[in-house]
Amino acid sequence: VVLLRFAPSPTGALHLGGLRTALYNHLYARRLGGKWILRIEDTDATRAVPGAVDGIRSALEWAGLEYDYGPGVGGPHAPYYQSERLDLYHTYAHKLLDSGHAYRCFCSADTLAATRERLARTGSNATYDKACLNLTEEEVMRRVRAGHKHVVRLNDSNLPNRPAQADLIFGHVKDAHASLPTDPVLLKSDLFPTYHLASVSDDHEMGITHVLRGEEWLPSLPLHLDLYAALNLKPPHFAHLPLMLNRDGSKMSKRKGDVQVLDYQRRGWEPIAVLNWLALAGWGTAASPSHTGAAESDTPPPIPVPSKKAKKAAPDSTAVMTLNELIHNFDLSSLTHRRTVLDPNKLEYLNKHHLMRIAETDEGLTALAEKVHDVVKAAFPTSPYTNVAYIKDVISALEGRIVNIRDLPIYGAYFFLEPYFQGDEAIKMRKRLDDVEYRKFFPPSVASYYMLVCFVGTVLESLIQRLSLEDSTKWSEDTIRQLLQDEESKVGLKQKTFMSVLRHALTGSSVRASCFAFLFEINPLLFVDRLDRASQ
Ligand code: GLU
Repeated sequence: VVLLRFAPSPTGALHLGGLRTALYNHLYARRLGGKWILRIEDTDATRAVPGAVDGIRSALEWAGLEYDYGPGVGGPHAPYYQSERLDLYHTYAHKLLDSGHAYRCFCSADTLAATRERLARTGSNATYDKACLNLTEEEVMRRVRAGHKHVVRLNDSNLPNRPAQADLIFGHVKDAHASLPTDPVLLKSDLFPTYHLASVSDDHEMGITHVLRGEEWLPSLPLHLDLYAALNLKPPHFAHLPLMLNRDGSKMSKRKGDVQVLDYQRRGWEPIAVLNWLALAGWGTAASPSHTGAAESDTPPPIPVPSKKAKKAAPDSTAVMTLNELIHNFDLSSLTHRRTVLDPNKLEYLNKHHLMRIAETDEGLTALAEKVHDVVKAAFPTSPYTNVAYIKDVISALEGRIVNIRDLPIYGAYFFLEPYFQGDEAIKMRKRLDDVEYRKFFPPSVASYYMLVCFVGTVLESLIQRLSLEDSTKWSEDTIRQLLQDEESKVGLKQKTFMSVLRHALTGSSVRASCFAFLFEINPLLFVDRLDRASQ
């Protein structure tokens, strides 16, 4: 059984990258019937931001990603804040000290800076000269007893062989040791662990089977594997998730637009659309590890991901999927190691399609109407038509046209407001109707917009008479079209023309949406009233 963890540091709001990491942890855990932990990595007090944990938790809740164990939930591995697990890290540090794989270093910041400079002058890549490794046991104990400040460093001189471990996405990773500091610090002088010691200790202690985390941690993998080796522990499987980029290839940053989950929440995007978008961002192309340099036998023991044979075709990069469908289709082996681009147009597309799916059930439709209720009320404070039941009808009427539910006041303004026939758009539209389209039906002298509306009104009246024999609540755009087809020869006005005049008379704008019938259906009073006013 797999156990994963999402381990954010509470250094600020959750970003899209973090949400994607949490999502992939969730998908993978659920796909394999396992669980995942939310672990708060708060060992760097200088970077902690008050309220950040609440923000992360509420972002996960908004997204509908429920962790199995963690803050507020509990579980068998508690506590889930690293700051409450310091004893554990001290135990691990002592194990390393006892086995000679770590040592205490008493060098001051000044000494370290001078050493670094000296080493750099000699052209060395080393960042420390291991001076404290030469202290005698007695000297070390004397200083410890006297309360001298010190750190614990990994002794990288006599490390056991690192376990051969390929990243599940990146394949074999080049030894990045050269880029690591010499004898990295594991325990700081304030007795807090560094990320590396805490992460390795916790992943082992909690029984994590798979570590799915951001690509930025890939360079730390060799160090982590060294730590597992030095502690004589079996490492979990690792999968590093490629960085996400803006469309222009730049790194995502606050300056370049919305990167916080909260931005998307405020903007009204459907959480499932955002998840769908993020899931597909690294998915869809089968990953062939780029750094495969080692022999086959170096690959880790059976990885519980579907075998090549069982591998499903990766879903289309615009596949609209619910969370359950994402889980069902998730396949680690189809993730790409290539940096992925987050295309905002794709989010619009997915959001629109998810809205349609949500609106299919009455429950979903109600939730959407409730979500947008305040926005509609604020947009049309004097409109009598802003209750939830009415908004539900409007959403259904606009089906397939709404990209973001918060834009309902823009798409559906004419459902809430009297059309403003003196507005710029209305004037432009009327002029177009007067000047061009209807010349062929009326002599220029009478080709005025008002004439047209009157004319359309008359035709409609005769239609209404025909319709009144039927159930008018069954009116739809199709019935009107059908009737018009019957009438066309009598009327002499093409359907398209008729429709655009009618649409304008009802909405006061050139909206392309063919919603007039729905407008009649859901608010017949408004329909008749508007037609009257437009022809005056
Ligand atoms: N605390 C790290 C971060 O916030 C997580 C690294 C990991 O998952 O190991 O990015």
